[in-house]
Amino acid sequence: MHVATPGSTHLMSNYGERTLEMVRGEGPYLFDGAGRRYLDFVAGIAVCSLGHAHPAIAQTLSEQAKTLIHCSNYYEIPQQKLLSAKLADLSGLDKAFFCNSGTEANEAALKLARKYAAAKGEMDRVEIVSLPNAFHGRTLGALSITPKPAYQAGYQPLLPGAQSPARLEDVVQAITTKTAACFVEVIQGEGGVRPIPSDVLQAIAERCREVGALLVIDEVQTGVGRTGAFFAHTQLGLHPDIVTMAKGLGGGVPIGAVLATAEVASAFTPGAHGSTFGGNPLATAVANTVVDIVSQPAFLEHVLAVGAYLEGALAQLGTDVTGRGLMWGFTVPDAKAYVQAGLQKGVLMSAVGETRVRLVPSLVIEKQHVDELVALLTH
Ligand SMILES: *Cc1c(COP(=O)(O)O)cnc(C)c1O
Repeated sequence: MHVATPGSTHLMSNYGERTLEMVRGEGPYLFDGAGRRYLDFVAGIAVCSLGHAHPAIAQTLSEQAKTLIHCSNYYEIPQQKLLSAKLADLSGLDKAFFCNSGTEANEAALKLARKYAAAKGEMDRVEIVSLPNAFHGRTLGALSITPKPAYQAGYQPLLPGAQSPARLEDVVQAITTKTAACFVEVIQGEGGVRPIPSDVLQAIAERCREVGALLVIDEVQTGVGRTGAFFAHTQLGLHPDIVTMAKGLGGGVPIGAVLATAEVASAFTPGAHGSTFGGNPLATAVANTVVDIVSQPAFLEHVLAVGAYLEGALAQLGTDVTGRGLMWGFTVPDAKAYVQAGLQKGVLMSAVGETRVRLVPSLVIEKQHVDELVALLTH
């Protein structure tokens, strides 16, 4: 019998080398196997919206696990219906489909946009436009609208009709009567925490309306309170046809969602799309708990207040500070080295690009954690 030895691994190497092992979390902190504490400004990549080991999430999880974890979408799931109603209320988009991740949400949105065009008899409307520097996920469809050579290499041919102009100023004219949908992140997270200028977003939205293309806003990273509003696009007065969500929605339990207008959603007729796990009682019960907490006005005000405090502090750490709420990026000469140095000092951050550092802490951090961040990184 083959016995695994410490240090050997049977995991594929797609994540590269991992040097740290995390065994426990508590609020804004993670603890490694040696008991060392880290101030967590990654939060599972903008996932652990309520911090680690939040009592309300733990309680919902344990109660739901003792009641019903999974039953399939052959049956009505009350927690799923409740969650769809809450998200409809918060977004103004009437219909929801649940899946298990961000890439699945965008994959479903791609299919919905194509299906909607086909249902209207617009068989030429097969193109999907995305922005330079975009990130929409890793399945082949979502990867096709993620124009990063390092991610796409070796996977060609990708989805035909995927268009990602090299320059932001060329996006509007790439949207034509052949475009089924344009996908947009209002702040590009993986792209370096880069807000898309409001006038560009307005021009894209207007162009979509003009030519009959759907506007899809990818709120996988920006959604669920991250920017100080439940949805970041509402801060910009945008009215998307489709919104995709995941990351923070389950507070760490995998769940994704696609929200759409009733008109667009009507293209998903029975059998048109599906997911075995999507919207199961466990994930939707937890998401209900997360949404109830995060959608409170006082909670979102807290995100904005601590976020403004964090923004003010970041000038001490780097240049070109951009972001909103509790989603920030700044520039340093060597982001990987900076993140590595932070690790030695007990701070978790992530590098997005050669020179950009991203901070997406849990939304429950306090000003004292910002002070702790700066103290640890500047001493
Ligand atoms: C993380 C992310 C995705 C992909 O989500 P996964 O859950 O990793 O599949 C898609 N879009 C955006 C904007 C993201 O930040």
